[in-house]
Parts: sequence; C-alpha cells; structure tokens
Amino acid sequence: KYKSYPYERMQKIREQNISPSLRMYYKKPLLLHQGHMQWLFDYEGRRYLDLFAGIVTVSVGHCHPKVTTATQKQLARLWHTSNIYMHPSIQEYAEKLTSLLPDPLKVVYLTNSGSEANDLAMFMARLYTRNFDIISFRGAYHGGSPYTLGLTSIGLYKHGVANGFGCSTTMLPDVFRGPWGGSHCRDSPVQTVRKCSCSEGVCHANDQYIEQFKDTLNTSVPKTIAGFIAEPIQGVNGAVQYPRSFLKEAYQLVRERGGICISDEVQTGFGRAGSHFWGFQTHDVVPDIVTLAKGIGNGFPMAAVVTTKEIASSLAQNLHFNTFGGSPLACVVGAAVLDAIEEDGLQKNSEDVGTYMLLELAKLRDKFEVVGDVRGKGLMIGVEMVTDKDSCHPLPAEEINQIWEDCKDMGVLIGRGGLYSQTFRIKPPMCISKKDVDFAVEVFHTALQRHMEKAAAK
Ligand code: PMP
Repeated sequence: KYKSYPYERMQKIREQNISPSLRMYYKKPLLLHQGHMQWLFDYEGRRYLDLFAGIVTVSVGHCHPKVTTATQKQLARLWHTSNIYMHPSIQEYAEKLTSLLPDPLKVVYLTNSGSEANDLAMFMARLYTRNFDIISFRGAYHGGSPYTLGLTSIGLYKHGVANGFGCSTTMLPDVFRGPWGGSHCRDSPVQTVRKCSCSEGVCHANDQYIEQFKDTLNTSVPKTIAGFIAEPIQGVNGAVQYPRSFLKEAYQLVRERGGICISDEVQTGFGRAGSHFWGFQTHDVVPDIVTLAKGIGNGFPMAAVVTTKEIASSLAQNLHFNTFGGSPLACVVGAAVLDAIEEDGLQKNSEDVGTYMLLELAKLRDKFEVVGDVRGKGLMIGVEMVTDKDSCHPLPAEEINQIWEDCKDMGVLIGRGGLYSQTFRIKPPMCISKKDVDFAVEVFHTALQRHMEKAAAK
C-alpha cells in the first residue's frame, strides 16, 4: 500500500484533501506503520519510544494484546445496538467503571469524544442548577466543539465566531509561571525553583490564587453559577500544577454559589497520576461530574460522563440519545482497558516509573539553564524550557524545535504544550519501564548538550 502511495504523494493528498487545520509534528512528519506497547515503528523500520502516546490516549500500550483480542472477538460477534436493545457489555462496563469511582458518582453516560463528554457535562450543570455561568481556568483545553470552546482558553484554538456564552475564565494558579511562585506547594516529587513566601503549613501562594478566584466570582459571573470545570493537572498547557489545596477551596466557593464541580479526567484519569486512579483524588475532592476520554479506550474512540443519580435525574426529564455511545464494541474495549490496567499493575507502574523519571529529569534541570521546570505526578510530566532560570522567559521556538527534532532523530517522541509551545509533554503509555526512562533521559541529555554547545559557539 505504501508503495502505491509514496511519501511525496501522500503529502500532496494531505495538502489538497485533508483538513488544513491539522498540524503535523516534526519538519518531516513520521509515516507510521505499526505500534507495540510503548513502541512505534515507521515505514523505514525505525523504532521510536513513544512518550506522548498519541496525545495521552494510548493508556495501556499500542495494540495491547488483551485489548486487541477482546476487540477482535467482539468485532466478529456484534458491533452495534444503538442501545435500543440490551447487550451485556454496557452493564458490565458501567458496573466495572463505577466500582472505581467514589459515591455518589455512579451514573454513566457513554459518548464518543472528550469534547462531547464536556458538552454533556456543561449541559447537565446548567439543567441541574438552572444557572448558566461556568468557570474554567485560563490555559485550559476542554474541547473544540462550539459549546466547549467557551471553556477552552488557549488562543491558538479560538476562532472569531460567537461562542462561549456564559463561560468565564479565571486566573490559572500556576506555581511555576504565576506571579506568586510556590517552591514547595505542589503535589509532585519535584518542586519548582521559583521561590514563594510560604511557610511550613501555610501556602501564601494558594491564598493569593484563591483571592483571584473570588475576584472572578465577584466580577465576571452572577451570584449563582452553574459550575466550575478543571483538570487536576492541566494537560494541553503542559502539565501545569496548582497549589495543593487550591481545588478543595475553589470547590467550596463554587458550591456556595449553587454551582457544581466538574473534573475533566480526560488526561489525568485511569491511573496516570500514579498515587491515585483519578486525578481529583490527589486533591482530596469529590466532583459532581467527571468526564473521561482518551485513555478510556486506549485509542478506540469512546468517552464518558459519570455523575450522581440526582444530577442524572434532571436530564431524564426528557430523552437524551447518542447513536454510537456505549456500543458493544466500545464497552468491550473499555472493559479490556480496565482489566489491563489492573492485571498489568499500570497505576503502580505510573507511580514508580513516573517518580523515577521526574527525579532523573530534575537532574537535567539542575544541570542545564534552559530546563526551567520539571513537574507532574506519575506519568503526567511537563518539562518547561526557558532562556534562563532568572527570567523564566520561554525558550525561543527554533531552539526548542531543534532539541525536540534531535530527540526524535535519536528515537524518542515527545509532546509539546504551553501557550508558547515551550513545554515538553511526557505522557507515555503506562507500560513504560525504568530502562526506557534511562534511554529517554540519555537522549534528552544528548540533545540538551548539543544545544548548549551550539549556543556557546554562537
Ligand atoms: N479535555 C481535555 C483535558 C483534553 O486534553 C481534550 C483533548 N485534547 C479534550 C477534553 C477533548 O477531547 P476530544 O479531542 O476527544 O474531543
């Protein structure tokens, strides 16, 4: 097939017939052939360690044998029912999924993408509270649909058409890039080098950010609101972490205004945060709605909203229907992914290997001036590149691009994120090993060394 479609011809077809909004990674985009667990193989037989997992989506490993076998069996049996007839798979899946969530999060809606899940969560928040306004963080990505674009707050994804009525953004409590620092305030094995005035047990940075949150509540929204949506660790913006108690205090303020709290677990869920299965648990909160996508299906297009019986009942006043959501195929995939996470010990692996990687990367931060911050939890990691640690200005794009291309040429694929694309995002399939980490860190070290030598020669 590849022979009848040489690389140049494929590029031409892309230019003419495929959405020009899609932007490919790398000067010469990879032409992939095959994937196996944490590895990808291109058509020229080169092997890459995949540290970005198809944008944090391949949770248990490319073509994981257990998920593949279960899918193949179901493919040959029954794909689709539209949920107008019963099939055991949806019951089995809903029971399995909700057994992993705390009370009262017990009612599942299956959808097909993260945007669709967040759309539904917004809709539920408004229906249930009978309020309209929803708050999200600046720098957030919650979807690209017209409804969720109001919550998404990254200029690159915004378009000049009317959207986002009733959506307000609030200051991102970013302990690295924000004005109040937070040198020991985040839940990560690696703390930021940006000092703060916090003392033992008292987080002044958090107090300042909470004041900003209150400011949004007092200035941008009416007295009663529909809700607040946040990721436990911000994904697209480059694994941004908040002070430890921020979400807990913010949830309380939102509930005092009659609003409900939505945790977008599209990237942080399913064990990736390591210490806990869900990201919200790392903040010691229980949301009213959680939204799930990406890793839920290990690459299969499926997503979910889980909420309380009470909130679900407001949507049950009338019909709500989704043709593909909860198909036998999707539910079998979802169940096999949950089994693989449990049987392969992937939450623990995220914790062990992720912590190991964070600490190894922190050594590079201490060695290289351009590595401004290493942060995250489990296998949700960000490495923010700066011109120098005093100013923390983002490293210019050409310089970051070169380091990134070099890593790719040496066999390591890394994601990008942040408002200036200044943060490397490391969110591999959760089956990655410490040996893989050693390889990746060595490659990154070599790329940084080359960068420093080039900069010195200038
Ligand atoms: N929420 C988060 C946190 C995401 O990262 C994304 C996708 N990048 C979405 C929602 C939207 O998911 P989808 O692309 O499946 O619509």
